[in-house]
Amino acid sequence: MTDPVRERAIIVPEDARVVEEFELKRTAGHIPRGSAPMPVAPEYATETPWIGPNGAVMRRLELHLTYHCAERCVFCSEEHRMEAYHEFQVTWGRVATILRTHAARGVQNVHFTGGEPTLHPQFIEVCMLARKLGMRTSVGTIGTMLARPDYAARAVPYLDEALFSLHGPNAEINDRLTRRQGSFEQTTTAIRNTLAVNPNFNLYVNTVVTKHNVDALPDTIAFAESLGAKLIVVSNTTPEGGGFDKYRELGVPLAKLAEVVPKAGARANKAIVRFFGMPMCLLGPYDVLSNDLHWDPRVTVEWSSKPGKVVFEGLYNWTPDRKRKRVDACERCARNTVCMGVYDRYADLYDTGELRPYGEPMAAAQAGD
Ligand code: SF4
Repeated sequence: MTDPVRERAIIVPEDARVVEEFELKRTAGHIPRGSAPMPVAPEYATETPWIGPNGAVMRRLELHLTYHCAERCVFCSEEHRMEAYHEFQVTWGRVATILRTHAARGVQNVHFTGGEPTLHPQFIEVCMLARKLGMRTSVGTIGTMLARPDYAARAVPYLDEALFSLHGPNAEINDRLTRRQGSFEQTTTAIRNTLAVNPNFNLYVNTVVTKHNVDALPDTIAFAESLGAKLIVVSNTTPEGGGFDKYRELGVPLAKLAEVVPKAGARANKAIVRFFGMPMCLLGPYDVLSNDLHWDPRVTVEWSSKPGKVVFEGLYNWTPDRKRKRVDACERCARNTVCMGVYDRYADLYDTGELRPYGEPMAAAQAGD
């Protein structure tokens, strides 16, 4: 019997050309040159960093498969890393080693990310290997390759879920943020192709909210659900990469979030909604949908810089506190052990007086509104 993993996934000539096209774009100038690499990964505090608090075992792996992408999303948190590392290929051998190592350590779920992970020339066989190692497979994608029906037909059987990036209910809003005309059409086509292969597929949507699309969020949620999304992740602009560089232009005021989130939550029918990177106290009746309550610890494997070299290594996160901070109001909040607060950049730039700490002080603050 043929080993499904060792058999090379079939890359048809048309797919190969697309991959090559993006490989060639590695030197394109759309990502600012000279961007500083991400900070050096911290040294591990223990020899077994995959064993966390109370003996918990790390179950989720996020693996950055590529450092290039067809889109130029204005808020891209990976922009600096793509600039710094796009010359460094994530080879099949490297991926196979990572998957085997983490499977042996107890990882049960792998999420492929990038860049655009479907542009990895062996993306399908990477998914096959993960499956063979007993992992559930997931991809975060803007649909670049899945927009091709033949590619979707070959890839979807090896995926348990996909999180599609969709940033508006129409091409005008979405493509303004991705900065590529045709992006909306591509993503929605990829979604339809995926469901054509498997009508019961775990189709998820991630939408990033910025000042430019926040008013359209309720419509975006309704549209995503109409496409078949079972889960919709609403991600606040993260002050990282391009999102850091343009935070003054993109960061949504807390008052605006507090105004829009309840309207947005109300537009979901059966789809599950999660609010990511937002203070829990601004979510109103939807505070239980805060992703801080539903987040899974994860090891993120990516390129990082060490003195004199670049290494592909894992960063272990046991809480969703990346770029978040608790401000003075949080100190008297009853939920300050589960809510990670506001983005640090927001607190550095703006007043956070809209926060409403849970507990007695909150009641007093709201009574005074
Ligand atoms: S006051 Fe701070 S800790 Fe409490 S819910 Fe708001 S942001 Fe979170």
